[in-house]
Amino acid sequence: MKQYGLIGKTLSHSWSRRWFKEMFEREGIIDCRYSLYELPSVAGLHEWVAANGISGFNVTIPYKEAVIPQLDEIDSVAEAVGAVNCVAVTDGRLVGHNTDAPAFLETLQPLLQPCHRAALVLGTGGAAKAVGYALRQLGIEYLLVSRTPQQHPHAVSYDDAAGLAASHLLIVNATPVGMYPNVDGIPWPYPHLLGKRHLCYDLIYNPETTRFLREATAAGAHTCGGLAMLERQAQLSWEIWEK
Ligand code: NAP
Repeated sequence: MKQYGLIGKTLSHSWSRRWFKEMFEREGIIDCRYSLYELPSVAGLHEWVAANGISGFNVTIPYKEAVIPQLDEIDSVAEAVGAVNCVAVTDGRLVGHNTDAPAFLETLQPLLQPCHRAALVLGTGGAAKAVGYALRQLGIEYLLVSRTPQQHPHAVSYDDAAGLAASHLLIVNATPVGMYPNVDGIPWPYPHLLGKRHLCYDLIYNPETTRFLREATAAGAHTCGGLAMLERQAQLSWEIWEK
């Protein structure tokens, strides 16, 4: 039996175990299992991998950056993003990858119009870094939007972002605002500034349609929720482990 899994701190609402279980059933894969591992820290990761016979694992909040010093190697995408969400185990060596960034890129690209040349990315955490990497690959200029812009290079305040909404027609939510159970939250407090040329992408996948996306749709904007990206990052993780 090959053992895969997800490490994080609080995983009771995790979507990944069900997705992998269903994928294994669909594909007739009977010798693999995907489990959730709530770890108090990432210290001693090699010992944990050996003790549990792990062949590969995903990494979620709050360990996507903290895991890096524990690894033997990280690939160039994870290095550029500064975060790891997928680790492959080969002969006891732990190699870190980032599948969030290509998953975001691949799910965004088909939705882009020529007018989407500049973006506002709400948030400055690990998800915003993956989004920024993908936008750089696509040649889309972007600004991060932060509650504390002075603490982040290339970040602007929400007040300043409001003044940029007419020229930045791609708006990406990379904050947890609006996520279950706080579904009334809205990360972009200016839906009245959105119009039919805007594309609003919310990384949140629970709920599938957030208040941000509902209000953006009502304003005439195009929208995309986080579920397609979530599925794609899981598929890409599986492709890395199966190589
Ligand atoms: P995070 O580190 O907890 O937060 C990201 C940033 O959001 C923070 O750095 C902060 O930026 C801002 N923020 C946090 N709380 C806020 C609040 N109450 N009001 C306004 N801004 C707030 O989260 P993350 O790991 O980057 O993930 C962000 C979201 O993306 C989560 O909902 C996660 O589930 C989702 N995600 C989805 C996928 C997918 O595959 N669909 C993949 C990765 C992540 P400032 O302090 O600078 O304002």
